[in-house]
Amino acid sequence: MSKRKPGRLFFANPGPTNIPDSVLRAMDRPTIDFTADDFNEAYAVAIAGLKRVLHTKGEVFFYTASGHGAWEATLLNLFSPGDHILVPEGGYFPSAWGAMGERYGLKVEYLPCDWRRGIDMAQLAARLAADTGHSIKAICAVHNETSTGVALPLQEIRAALDGCGHPALYLVDTISSLGCFAFKMDEWGIDAVVGGSQKGLMLPTGLAFTAAGPKAMQAHEKAKLPRFYFDWTMMMARPQRSFVGSIPTAPFYGMIEAIRLIEQEGLEALWARHHRLAEATRLAVRIWAANDGPQLYCTDPARVSDSVTTILLPDGHDADAFRKIALDRFNVSLGGGLGKLTNKVFRIGHLGDLNEPMILGTLGVVEMSLGLAGIPHGKGGVAAAMAYLAG
Ligand code: PLP
Repeated sequence: MSKRKPGRLFFANPGPTNIPDSVLRAMDRPTIDFTADDFNEAYAVAIAGLKRVLHTKGEVFFYTASGHGAWEATLLNLFSPGDHILVPEGGYFPSAWGAMGERYGLKVEYLPCDWRRGIDMAQLAARLAADTGHSIKAICAVHNETSTGVALPLQEIRAALDGCGHPALYLVDTISSLGCFAFKMDEWGIDAVVGGSQKGLMLPTGLAFTAAGPKAMQAHEKAKLPRFYFDWTMMMARPQRSFVGSIPTAPFYGMIEAIRLIEQEGLEALWARHHRLAEATRLAVRIWAANDGPQLYCTDPARVSDSVTTILLPDGHDADAFRKIALDRFNVSLGGGLGKLTNKVFRIGHLGDLNEPMILGTLGVVEMSLGLAGIPHGKGGVAAAMAYLAG
């Protein structure tokens, strides 16, 4: 067994994230009957709160799963074999969602994107306009690409669909954006949303969900892909209109507390806090970028993510060896590169239950570890972040 390091592990991964102590306490309870009135009442409070965070009046279906389960459930409940879906391919996660669709016999068309900028809106508009026969049944967008740190302008995607009167369903993965930066399902014309518990909602991994609006529910009635555990129709026959099988009760008490914390802070204030901590991180990276040092991976300043910053190391430097220094020497866990970015980038998660000293601690360790790893960089990144946060 490895020796305990004193103090807390600084968990600076872009999810799962830190769980507030009061959320941990709220979940620390004995097993109860998930069919009992007490639980049904708690469930109703939790789901109403989640709908406020999502800004939707639609249905919400929960699964005992991580985000992958919600991806799968959403595809199975909305499509039939051979259906054509369009996936803007701007990182690791859209590729994986598309690969899942292929496995289930969907015709998946990838809209190629520059991973450092995300979707090209003109290209998307042209592709949708060219689809005069409306063969494309849905567009599947990842709001915040956790592998690259690029956030997509969801309202522009809606406008591209409306601009050519395209009737495709609009599906959005909010796994690393919900509870971090602005998201408004109904107002933004999103038909189905995929979410997970372990990032902005500050809960343990294992509770994933889909929110579905009226158009998605209509599509569900015709969808023929085989499904059982994930079947929304079976779920709707149950009092909670969720889950096929036993319901994990404890996470819902955690969710009530997490949403209480979110609403006590206020969603707008919470989004502003995430923006401030993300800005401080980006300021530090821009200073480190001098002397051919590490760079912000996202090259479009209008699309930088407020929940994760992906940082590209100079050629010839090993990002995983660098992360190991931060973890072994200083007990700071940074995110690694995914897919084609493996070992080339590291990621700082600045989402969830986080404040200034926590982000400064992480940035301080990154700056020390850059030095220890012999990675060239400009000096004074942390000082720049401190000056910004003190302002
Ligand atoms: N989508 C996004 C944007 C993610 O960041 C992740 C995981 O980090 C997933 C999907 C997959 O979710 P999970 O790992 O919970 O299965």
